[in-house]
Amino acid sequence: MSATILIVEDTPANMKLAALLLHKAGYQVLQAPNAIQGIELARRHLPDLILMDMQLPIMDGLSATKILKADVLTAKIKIVALTAFAMKDDEQRMRDAGCDGYISKPISHQSFYQKIASMLAATPIQKGSTP
Ligand code: MN
Repeated sequence: MSATILIVEDTPANMKLAALLLHKAGYQVLQAPNAIQGIELARRHLPDLILMDMQLPIMDGLSATKILKADVLTAKIKIVALTAFAMKDDEQRMRDAGCDGYISKPISHQSFYQKIASMLAATPIQKGSTP
């Protein structure tokens, strides 16, 4: 069975691209446009990995990550920050909040797939579907 990945992203173009790339690689994809819905979907579906945009309306990605990592139900879900800013300080803040890694936007297809695959190490990507 393929891995399930939840994308929490408020910018439609970014969501569309990330979802398309993950679908093409054979992953099951869940989508949430904000952190509140993201947390709800995470609790309900327990995805293998969450791609968490850092800049979100209502509640930012760091706060959402802290909530998920503080809850025994969702603590083990790997969270990869999606960020347009990746300065040294930001990386530390993301790690401190519980992020397991980060991907810089704009998304570069190859490094995107590599990052996802390495984060899911135990869950192989379906053969022949990676562009
Ligand atoms: Mn955003």
